[in-house]
Amino acid sequence: MHAATNIAGQKPVVNNNAKKLAILGAGESGVGAALLAKQQGYDVFVSDGGPIKEIYRAELQQAQIAFEEAQHTEIKILSADEVIKSPGISEKNELVKKIRAKGIPVISEIEFAYRYKGDSKIIAITGSNGKTTTTALIYHMCKLGGKDCAMVGNIGYSFAKQVADDPKPLYVAEISSFQLDDIKTFRPDVAVLTNITEDHLDRYNYNIQNYIDSKFRIVENQQPGDVFIYCLDDETTVKNINKYNIKSTLYPITMSKELPQGAYLANVKMHLKWKSEEMQMSIDDFKLKGKHNQYNSMAASLAATAVDIRKEKIREALQTFETLEHRMEPVATIKGVEFINDSKATNVNSTWFALESMEKPVVLILGGVDKGNDYSTMKEMVAEKVKAIVCMGADNIKIHEAFETLVSAMVNTSSAEEAVQAAFHFATKGDVVLLSPACASFDLFKNYEDRGNQFKQAVKNL
Ligand code: ADP
Repeated sequence: MHAATNIAGQKPVVNNNAKKLAILGAGESGVGAALLAKQQGYDVFVSDGGPIKEIYRAELQQAQIAFEEAQHTEIKILSADEVIKSPGISEKNELVKKIRAKGIPVISEIEFAYRYKGDSKIIAITGSNGKTTTTALIYHMCKLGGKDCAMVGNIGYSFAKQVADDPKPLYVAEISSFQLDDIKTFRPDVAVLTNITEDHLDRYNYNIQNYIDSKFRIVENQQPGDVFIYCLDDETTVKNINKYNIKSTLYPITMSKELPQGAYLANVKMHLKWKSEEMQMSIDDFKLKGKHNQYNSMAASLAATAVDIRKEKIREALQTFETLEHRMEPVATIKGVEFINDSKATNVNSTWFALESMEKPVVLILGGVDKGNDYSTMKEMVAEKVKAIVCMGADNIKIHEAFETLVSAMVNTSSAEEAVQAAFHFATKGDVVLLSPACASFDLFKNYEDRGNQFKQAVKNL
């Protein structure tokens, strides 16, 4: 069934006519998979339990792909030869349970896209935090280095859609743990694991080991000659790395010691060692600020080196990379109070790093949907940097319990407008108001972008 290898730009000729493929979920990845499947000759049926966005419905119609929305016709789905499950759909879903019980093979969209990527190379980035930043930074390096490449996954098209519409010799792919849950052969040439910290535990039966295992699947099919970049300072990664039979060549990053191979920070310089090559660069020249971004920059530099990007281009990329929206994004300074939008911080670890990089007293806007947060790891940082907390969520009890005694003021709010006004009230000249919620956003907002945009609007309304 697998396609013969093709070179980028050429479509493999495979007869998949007999194969019935059901795709659950009609978002970016589901629709991307459907387009690729149709192109490859599968008999495709897309099913979404909710409404399908207009833009995706139009794409399915245009490609003459059969689909349904706001329902699942079980008989059709359970008669498929193979199922592609969108990453947003949980194993607890009743239909997924039935598919599993029937023994129908289930794969993720990246596994499907991988079948048809031909000889193209893949740099795949996973981790709890820093995926998007590291992905975008690697892409920036590759573009500056003259590579014909595409950024796929969370930013840009899904991997499958890119393979269907505009195949490239190199893909820089941001990969979530949910996408890794249903891989079989997916094998990146270069894998990056930024870090592992509690997140999405609700999807992993509140068992962190399941989540860790899922993240490490990024290296599962790697072979000697492939590259694995990981963080030596990340406790969970280091504690677990020996449990897996990793065949690829390891390139660690660290801030705590010198390394013979890999990237490390010493005397405010990044040192990169790759085979016989060496490079040094002052971290003051990095466009991205903050300790977390120094990790991201080290990981990205190694990944770019692995695909032969020259040192000068890596240096230039680190100097010119622009901050992404909703990630430590400066919004405005009003009456001496600086406002920063870090709405993308949806877990405790990312908020910890956001606070770590703060040099002024902080009024912190925190809260939302808690995915199993353990706030104890943040206590010390909050005590050191935060003067007041503005809770912005439907349920703020855990935040009160964790921090009430550590800050001088704490209030509950239930909209971005209210939160910004409260935070501005607590702040004085020289302070920072930081939106870094450590939680998901869907109690009060559509998604983290909506939360960040409403925050920015509220700041402008002050
Ligand atoms: P992801 O795509 O994994 O969610 P992003 O690059 O979008 O990661 O960053 C999300 C948030 O995590 C940012 O707001 C930032 O504060 C924080 N962050 C970024 N990189 C790291 C890192 N290496 N370690 C910890 N936190 C990070």
